[in-house]
Amino acid sequence: MGRLLYTVNIFCSISYFMKSLAEFIQTTREKAGYSVYGLAQKASIDIEILEDIESGKELFLPVTVRQKLARALKCSPTEIKQYEREYQFQVISDEVIDNLKARILKHETNLKCPICGEPLITRVAEMYDMDDNLVLVPKAHCTKCVFQIKEG
Ligand SMILES: [Zn+2]
Repeated sequence: MGRLLYTVNIFCSISYFMKSLAEFIQTTREKAGYSVYGLAQKASIDIEILEDIESGKELFLPVTVRQKLARALKCSPTEIKQYEREYQFQVISDEVIDNLKARILKHETNLKCPICGEPLITRVAEMYDMDDNLVLVPKAHCTKCVFQIKEG
């Protein structure tokens, strides 16, 4: 049986000269007079998420987080977005992929892309292996970025 592969675009040639998302959020937060905790409270997002953003671990924000931050920092989501990397080079663990595949097979809906947090389009493909046994194969692709799960 073929192995299920996932592909991640490694295109991230952007913005060595640009201020990073981490710097932008941190300086804007400080200008607005918030501590990390204070901003997390104000924006009602998890403090860990904010810490990850400011430490540069999060390079791309889910829409809701971006909107909440923009509202709290009195800037526009578009302004924040321009500091995000279009595609993030990220290794997604087999565990995350296996978990997603299991959920697709259970026909769960509202699954989110592990890279960018946008909705995934999923389906279960019916295939036959070499002994003519029916095999259910989970498939997914992101509505926004290049993430996908497919038969390799
Ligand atoms: Zn995505």
